[in-house]
Amino acid sequence: MKELNFTIEQTAAAARTGHVHVNGQELSTPQLVHTGGELGKLTAWQLKRVNVAAIKVNGLPWWLKADHQVNSLPDLHDFYHWNGLLLVDQQTRVAYQAAKPRGRKKDGVRFHDPVTGQLKFYQPADGLALQQALGADIYQSFDRSVDYYAPVDDLAAGVEQTAAWLPATSTVAGQTLGKITGGGLKDLRQKSVSAVQQAGMAGYSLAGIPADLPDKEFNRILNELVDLLPAAHLRYLPTSSSLTQLLIAVLAGVDLIDSDLAAKKAGMGVALVGPHLTSLHLDRQHFATDFTALDEKCQCPVCQGGYRRATIHQLVTSNAILGEQLLLQHNLFVLDRLMGEIRQAIEDQQLESFIQELRQNP
Ligand SMILES: [Zn+2]
Repeated sequence: MKELNFTIEQTAAAARTGHVHVNGQELSTPQLVHTGGELGKLTAWQLKRVNVAAIKVNGLPWWLKADHQVNSLPDLHDFYHWNGLLLVDQQTRVAYQAAKPRGRKKDGVRFHDPVTGQLKFYQPADGLALQQALGADIYQSFDRSVDYYAPVDDLAAGVEQTAAWLPATSTVAGQTLGKITGGGLKDLRQKSVSAVQQAGMAGYSLAGIPADLPDKEFNRILNELVDLLPAAHLRYLPTSSSLTQLLIAVLAGVDLIDSDLAAKKAGMGVALVGPHLTSLHLDRQHFATDFTALDEKCQCPVCQGGYRRATIHQLVTSNAILGEQLLLQHNLFVLDRLMGEIRQAIEDQQLESFIQELRQNP
């Protein structure tokens, strides 16, 4: 497996464009990593048709199912016929939430499998073996997950433990993003950054920033944190949920940004349309007789394929899976187009005015 290579092309204030090369793949950044189980409702071919470049899959259910036999797990590229970038979430957060205080060990986390009730011991070596078995293209280090607003002693213990586990990924450091933890506390985050820097990792995973933070705090911690990072390395944010958070991350200078926005909106029967990515709630009655496309100007396979709002309204209100599949394809395509426009705006030094226009109420 080849090392991850990241180059920065252009910067505009804190934001930047660049390229990630890893395992024969090349991605332009800033780039979205799409998440959410809903993605499984589309085939790899459908994902590629709407220009999805990177996805993240939850790893813990696979690990629990394998019961220590991770070598028996499939490479998810083969399993899903997916040839794009793949990240695997070790979901330490889930393990720590299921663990009792005495389950937080120096060498891992002991917790009960939420499905079978069996006691499991999840260790840094397991997290790496899991990512390798499932074929992740970029790895992440193992972290002791602590709530963002936990007492300072707990956060400090989390930072120390997460740093102590960095050597578990030393053989693949060139392809691994080190987890930065420490809640909302600058001193702790700084310690965490220094540890990852010393370990010579390929980049930084900005962990422990929950998507349900108020936008103001999300903005504060992200900017404070990015300020602590050396410019040259890849920055990955493994949580973002809204369009506002996505834009905050781009403006702060994050390169890879997780997003469940397309899937979440599709699940609510919503299409993102028009120059402001306005939410169109297709379940509303007046769409029953609307025979226009979701977005007349959209070039996605759904809008170009002759699907009308009335048809999608009918599918959404009868809970047919096709309705969600169509909305998901449209939303993924729209977000990819947005990221292309954002990269162009950074190249043109027009990012702020581009975002101002985007956020204007129509
Ligand atoms: Zn469309």
